[in-house]
Amino acid sequence: MKFIVHTYGCQMNVRDSEAVAALLAAAGHEKAANEDEAEMVIINSCTVRDKAEQKAIGKSGNMIAAKRNGSKRLVGLMGCAVKRLGEDVFKLLPGLDFAVGPRRFGAIPHLVERCLAGERRILETAGDDEVPQGLDAHEQQGFKAFVTVLLGCDNRCSYCIVPDVRGHEFSRPGREVAAEVGALAAHGVKEVCLLGQSVLRYGRRNAAWFASDPPSLYKEPFPRLLEMLDKTQGLERIRFTSAHPGGCTDELVQAFATMPRVCRHLHLPVQSGSDRILKAMGRGYARAEYLAAIAKLRRFDPEFALTTDVIVGYPGETEEDFEATRSLMEEAQFDNAFIFKYSPRPGTRSAALPDDVSKEEKERRNQVLLADQEKRGLARNERLVGTVREVMVEGPSLRNAARWSGRDGGNRIVVFAPPRALRPGETVQVRITEAHPQILIGEALA
Ligand code: SAH
Ligand code: SF4
Repeated sequence: MKFIVHTYGCQMNVRDSEAVAALLAAAGHEKAANEDEAEMVIINSCTVRDKAEQKAIGKSGNMIAAKRNGSKRLVGLMGCAVKRLGEDVFKLLPGLDFAVGPRRFGAIPHLVERCLAGERRILETAGDDEVPQGLDAHEQQGFKAFVTVLLGCDNRCSYCIVPDVRGHEFSRPGREVAAEVGALAAHGVKEVCLLGQSVLRYGRRNAAWFASDPPSLYKEPFPRLLEMLDKTQGLERIRFTSAHPGGCTDELVQAFATMPRVCRHLHLPVQSGSDRILKAMGRGYARAEYLAAIAKLRRFDPEFALTTDVIVGYPGETEEDFEATRSLMEEAQFDNAFIFKYSPRPGTRSAALPDDVSKEEKERRNQVLLADQEKRGLARNERLVGTVREVMVEGPSLRNAARWSGRDGGNRIVVFAPPRALRPGETVQVRITEAHPQILIGEALA
């Protein structure tokens, strides 16, 4: 059957969708060129905020409605919203053919067979410790790939539904990850991004597994994993996301400083700059500890790129708390920031508290932080004018096809006129001539 997968939410979902596409192709199905042509539509859902869930459910509803006009198309929903909703998913979407939770996506080819045999409304959600089949399945690759290294999350921040839907932490054995990365590199992949909800907790829960790994300079499992992957033939860049500040140890800093392939960028969600709110959130660090952690990174490289997530309007967040977040962001000098308006999620600890910051006030705080970040992003990028950045080429720029774009090690987007015919995945040196809040413009050196 011709299929299409629509993805909502985080990079983890992007990766799971790619694995599903690879598994379906291996089972003899074929990717549709567009939605109209698709005989099977799979929607990968997010539930981290209410709005995100609504989008995926809305899209599924549209796909099911289109089906009523006589087509025999299959519609399946996968991902975090399925785990949250359970059987209720069929109350919201009565015409759904199958629904599958985030740790069971490997079953999809089999569920499709069952649907083709006439079954409908199949629900499969896994237990909190299940390891999905097909974690290492990849489609025919470009030069970049995501690799899942840590499943689930055991942190239980007060506002977060992720642990309920993605289950317990499970670290894949280092050798398995190294084999996957090696195979990707052998097929031309130059950059991998290692994924986990709290990726620096890699190897903490099932530590015994790592006892037989090769000798290493490092004691902690995540730097050990980086060291193992750093030896991969043909691989040029290693990134990882998302990082909990608690994992920003001296060994991690040392790994950044000593392994040139490990990109000098960290997505380090701070969530708030107020100690009172951080405590209520159960984040496990105070403002000063967060700032001390990033100071270590910027000490050895002042251009070390830092990005973050912030929540505005957490229950009880006062103007003073909000101003503390504002000042932390200024002190931290983030290169980029994603700002989210607090959304109570059923079953989380904070959902029991009154959602007492008004919608308008959340919106105002959101806009203030975005405007601050716009200025800060520009100022940070202006510092780079005149410097030469090593850029991995991605392809023609979306806005102007005469120019090409790529990313530097800090994940900054760099746009430039190609000096010659270029291939995606090639590395060029670009002198920066112009700064914008979100992009750098430059000229490629011959
Ligand atoms: N595992 C990642 C984050 C996963 S969710 C980490 O811990 O770094 C991505 C982001 O969504 C979070 O960093 C947080 O800023 C935001 N988020 C999570 N739950 C939320 C909620 N209930 N309301 C608003 N934003 C939320
Ligand atoms: Fe959610 Fe906290 Fe786990 Fe991130 S670390 S997924 S915010 S519980």
